[in-house]
Parts: sequence; structure tokens; C-alpha cells
Amino acid sequence: MAYATTNPYTGEVLNVFPDATDSQVDQALDDAHNAFLLWKDTPLSQRKVILQRAADLLRERATDYARLLTLEMGKITAEGRAEVEISAGIFEYYANNMETLLAPEALSVAHPNEGKPTLVYEPLGIILAIEPWNFPIYQVARILAPQLAAGNTMLLKHASNVPQSAAAFDQLMLDAGLPDGAFRNLFATRQQVEKIINDPRVHGVALTGSEGAGAIIAAQASRALKKSTMELGGSDAFVVLADAELDKTVNWAVFGRHWNAGQVCVSSKRMIVVDEVYDAFLSRYIEGVAQLKAGDPFDPSTTLAPLSSQAAADEIRGKIREAVAHGATATEVGPKVPSQGAFVQPTILSNLTPDNPAYYWEFFGPVTMIFRAKNEEEAIQIANDSPYGLGGSVFTADPLHGAEVAKRISTGMVFVNHPTSPKADLPFGGIRRSGYGRELTDLGIKEFVNHKLICIVDIDAPFL
Ligand code: NAP
Repeated sequence: MAYATTNPYTGEVLNVFPDATDSQVDQALDDAHNAFLLWKDTPLSQRKVILQRAADLLRERATDYARLLTLEMGKITAEGRAEVEISAGIFEYYANNMETLLAPEALSVAHPNEGKPTLVYEPLGIILAIEPWNFPIYQVARILAPQLAAGNTMLLKHASNVPQSAAAFDQLMLDAGLPDGAFRNLFATRQQVEKIINDPRVHGVALTGSEGAGAIIAAQASRALKKSTMELGGSDAFVVLADAELDKTVNWAVFGRHWNAGQVCVSSKRMIVVDEVYDAFLSRYIEGVAQLKAGDPFDPSTTLAPLSSQAAADEIRGKIREAVAHGATATEVGPKVPSQGAFVQPTILSNLTPDNPAYYWEFFGPVTMIFRAKNEEEAIQIANDSPYGLGGSVFTADPLHGAEVAKRISTGMVFVNHPTSPKADLPFGGIRRSGYGRELTDLGIKEFVNHKLICIVDIDAPFL
């Protein structure tokens, strides 16, 4: 697929970039390996200075990066700035915490004859990151900061519709003082991606994206006996219990489903509302969604952005039609969205039953699936009836009870009284078809390291 910037609001093709040549890929592998040989022995005190500088530069250039996000995938400016800030926060988190996170760990053993065992965390080499377009800066920060902190180097294959955001990272890391080659963006083809995975100097693949891409890349990685992490799709439940404070809950529901034009893996995609408050919730939710203002994503008054491309908008309209053909009811909400730009009319899908294939789909746009649950028990049962297991949320006036319900929701992340929310200092990831592995915090930094045992045994007694 050609790498190109196409403004999703105007439809204008702003820039096209040629695919990487095979010799550029070979050079990037050589450079990343040579950089690794130096970077792995670079003291943490020096690595952290570079990560902090990257955080500072992201903040200094926030306006430029946010502009790129709007141009390339239609993000509204305020959300673009928030994305740059959380990305800076991730670099800063690892700058501040890498020494603690990577500190050797003494293990306790049952018998002194076993010696003194210690776990140390050593980098592996080059890691390949394959990233999606919905958070072009944050997704890269989420994998790059911990891997550099750990001492690995990285090659990036970003989504083909955000080439300028991808290229901006090359310059950012060079300006932050990272040795040349320790990070490089490549406009790689699928064949080149497979070649990179098979290169013996590459030791892992981290993919964020769709199930389809995840299945292909995970298979390529496993054939090459390389570790992978997969951050895939989701269909988060937004469970509303009878005692939920409705105004607050509805505000979060409208935001949780529509920020980033609904193109978030942890969007609140399935509203599951108990019978007592279903009607009141639905009427207020419709009012809230109707207040969203679709328009130019550069206009500060816009609150609903276009989708990332016309193809994405067409795809979601097709999925709505299919859901209806299988028995769902689609209700369009609010004033008509502009005819210019990749907009999709906010839509509520009701009467979805398990025999409708759409019941189990992810809608990556402003489409709300809503379910009436007889009671809390049934709400939990509907929440868990999904192939996905990424995030979820529970709304209730009793947060401790909310935490009990959260324990019964079968996903990687559950929030009480808030939509699932990415943060610089919280782990991120899911289960089932939402993938495996975790990004961020200590979990993310230890995905691609050698958890190496060093055991000092210096005793005369026989080893048992
Ligand atoms: P996608 O089509 O899977 O693309 C993601 C990345 O994979 C892109 O860089 C894409 O490159 C690349 N890719 C796709 N097929 C490939 C192949 N056969 N070989 C090599 N690279 C390949 O995903 P998307 O539709 O753009 O993104 C939306 C999906 O990502 C949703 O399902 C969303 O929920 C999920 N997501 C998950 C998380 C999470 O953290 N769990 C976060 C954000 C998004 P091209 O652009 O060149 O095709």
C-alpha cells in the first residue's frame, strides 16, 4: 500500500512517499544492530537524559505535531495536543523510573546451598514495531520509550496513511540525542516487514492494529521463533447500574464513544444499561450525542471529527447496513454531518441479538451498540459475551461495589466511573482476540528483555 498523506476533511492528497528500497531496509538493519552494540552498554544515566529530552521536545513542538495529526488522520486539535502530552508523559515516565524498573532482583531460595540467585534484565537487540494510524504519535511513544529504556533498538513500520507523523519521529529522536540507527522509520512493504522479522538480529515484534494483521504478523514471528506482543481490537462494555449518577454517566458515555471520532481500541462501544435506568439513560444519551458538532477538525468548536479516511467511513456504513440486514435497528442521531469529509452520522444500534453477526463486531467509528439488561447479573453476562477482552467500565454510585463488578468483567482493563483511559503510568493490553502482552509500566519494559538468572554458588557442600 502506498504511503501518502490524504486530508480526510478535504480529501486532498497532500504528499506521497515512495516505499523503502531493499537497500534502505538492509542499511536500517545494519545500523540498528550496530547502534544496539553501543546502546546496550550505554549507562542508564545517559539513556534517561535522551528520553527526557524527547519528552521536552514533544512538548516544545506540540503545536506542530498536533497539526500533523489533524492533517493526516483528521484528529481535532485539542485531542491532538492531548495525544502529544501523553506521549511526552510516557518518555518522562521511563526517564524517571527506568533505573528502578530495571534494577536487578535478588531471589529468595529455600536452601542456602542453592547459592545467591539474582535476576537481571538484559536487552535483546532490534525490535520491530508495527503501528496503527489512530494515535500516530502516542502508539509509537508507547513502544519506543520502554524499548529504548531497556537497551533495545527499534525499527518502525507505521500505518501507510500517517507517513509524516512517522517520519517526524526520526527527527525527534535524532534531535533528542539518540545515536543514529537506534530508531528508524521505514516505509516498508509487507515483503520487507517479513524479511525484517526473519533477520536474525531482530528479536521481537510488537504490533498494534487489527485482528487480521495481528494473526499474520504473529504467525510470521512464531515461524521465525521470535516473541511478539499483540495489541488488537476491542469492543469495550460500558455498564450502567441502577444507582449510577446519570448526568455524569451520560457525559462520559458520549465522550467515551465519540472521542477520536470513535476510532479508539478502548472506545465505549457497547452501552449495557440495566432495565430500571435504560429509558432515562437512552433519552439523555441521544440528547448528548446530538450536541456534538461535526466539522473542520482545525476549528476549535468542532467536537466530532471526520474518520481517518473515506474508505474507513464507507466500511463502517457498510457494517451498519449489514447489522440492520440481520435484524438490528439503526437510529441516526443529531444534525446531519457535513457532506464534505469522511464523516459518519452518529448512529445507535439497538435490538442486537447474539444471532446477528454484528453483535460480536468492533465498530471503529461513531456507532453505539446499546443493550437493555434485566439486572446487574445479565449486564455482566452481556459484557463478557464478546470475542474481545480489552477494556471496559462500570458506572455506579457505590465505587466499592463497582470494583466487585469490575472483577467479574473478563478484560485486561476495567475502570469504575470512567471510560477506559490510557495513561502514561498505567499498563495497557487485553486478552482473547484483543491480543496478548502488555505495554507501558514495568510490564511493557520487560516484554522484550532477557530475564537472566545469575546464581553465585561458592560452597563446598554438594549441590542439591
Ligand atoms: P491494521 O489495518 O491492522 O493496521 C495496523 C498496522 O499494521 C499498519 O501499520 C498496517 O500497515 C500494518 N499491517 C496490516 N497488515 C499487515 C501485514 N500483512 N503485514 C505487515 N503490516 C501490516 O489496523 P487499522 O485498521 O489501521 O487499525 C485499527 C485497529 O487497531 C482496530 O481494530 C483497533 O481496535 C486496533 N487498535 C488496537 C489498539 C490496542 O492497543 N489494543 C490501539 C489502537 C488500535 P498499512 O497501513 O500499510 O496497511
